[in-house]
Amino acid sequence: AEDPKRRVLKDVFGFDDFRPGQADVIDALLGGRHVLAVMPTGAGKSLCYQVPALVMGGLALVVSPLVALMQDQVAALRLAGVGADTINSSLDREANVAAWRRVASGQTRLLYLAPERLMTERMLEALSRLEVSLVAIDEAHCISQWGPAFRPEYEDLSRLRHIFPNVPIIAVTATADESTRSDIEARLFAERVETLVLGFDRPNIKLAIESKQDSKRQLLRFIERHPGKSGIVYCLSRKKTEEMAAFLEKNGVTALAYHAGMSKEAREANQNAFMTLSGVVMVATIAFGMGIDKPDVAYVFHTDMPGSLEAYYQEIGRAGRDGRKAEAHMLYGLGDIRMRRLFIDDEDAAVEHKKRAHRRLDTLIGYCETAQCRRQVLLGYFGEDASPCGNCDNCLDQVPRADGGAETRIILAA
Ligand code: ADP
Ligand code: MG
Ligand code: ZN
Repeated sequence: AEDPKRRVLKDVFGFDDFRPGQADVIDALLGGRHVLAVMPTGAGKSLCYQVPALVMGGLALVVSPLVALMQDQVAALRLAGVGADTINSSLDREANVAAWRRVASGQTRLLYLAPERLMTERMLEALSRLEVSLVAIDEAHCISQWGPAFRPEYEDLSRLRHIFPNVPIIAVTATADESTRSDIEARLFAERVETLVLGFDRPNIKLAIESKQDSKRQLLRFIERHPGKSGIVYCLSRKKTEEMAAFLEKNGVTALAYHAGMSKEAREANQNAFMTLSGVVMVATIAFGMGIDKPDVAYVFHTDMPGSLEAYYQEIGRAGRDGRKAEAHMLYGLGDIRMRRLFIDDEDAAVEHKKRAHRRLDTLIGYCETAQCRRQVLLGYFGEDASPCGNCDNCLDQVPRADGGAETRIILAA
């Protein structure tokens, strides 16, 4: 069965992949939890509530501080064929009445409101008779008195959790600063809230790519530089995970395999061992990782090139969640490109889809081949600007030269 959130992403919005963080946020909401999602501008925060709204059905309320933002989003949703409405002060009475009729008759999936509109007794009374499935608060930092964009109208939103006690609430903002974050949490959520801070940059993860020669030896050498640490090793095939794990075991490394071809019991046993013991290396296919939140994973090692830059980002993101130094190391060679191209061509899919998949692969190859700062390329792909990071192989390989090359650079830059 296809994942309903993916189907909505594709059928309604026309996107093939979630951006980093989106799937985690959506899963938490679909699981009935409250979420505070802190993601950079351009990360795609709107989809984090639009997709679950459509998966859940019923009516989603979206609070947004600016009429222009609301109108933009409503127009875009309608273009995509989604029943969306806004009731706001810039519309005349007739337009607002017509919008309310659509809401009351159940045609509207997402209703955009300014906070002061939503929090009137009349509106809340009327909404209480409808099936409200989700409440989303965009630009949620407006609720924080410490923030630069404080809106007194936002304060009243703290009543929402009592008014809609069984409805998941999502607050999204690009303001990641710690005090604003806890302020938002305190005001909007009494109970447990899942706070996901998803700036795309994970500066503690060192990024490196090594040309593939003898992957077994290269992997072993890498692991020997991280004795006693927990790590994840991704391989393309099930067979290879088992061979690699056996090879590591033979060389004194505690390694376990994980792939979808193993029995449920064996998979669970290995996953438990990885989660509870320290110093276990999990050699896995991409079947391993969903919902894995082990804070002290010191590295993610790709013995084969992943499927896309999105997949790569998601997979390496399992390293260093505790904020300590961690590494993402990939082996990459021409064979990987050939293999990935074959995969795409062999897929039973439309030509358009294949073209897109090849283009996505080109992006990943570009990342592998770049001589620029890898983090710049990676973050740039997700719309985030960054300066050279000093924590990737390309940055670190730029050793100052004895002939004064480094000095020249500094002078030119000044
Ligand atoms: P934010 O509110 O986080 O600044 P938006 O929700 O406005 O970002 O989204 C920014 C842009 O990214 C929009 O054009 C949106 O269509 C696009 N976008 C969002 N999610 C995806 C995705 N999964 N794949 C491709 N594009 C996406
Ligand atoms: Mg936004
Ligand atoms: Zn760098």
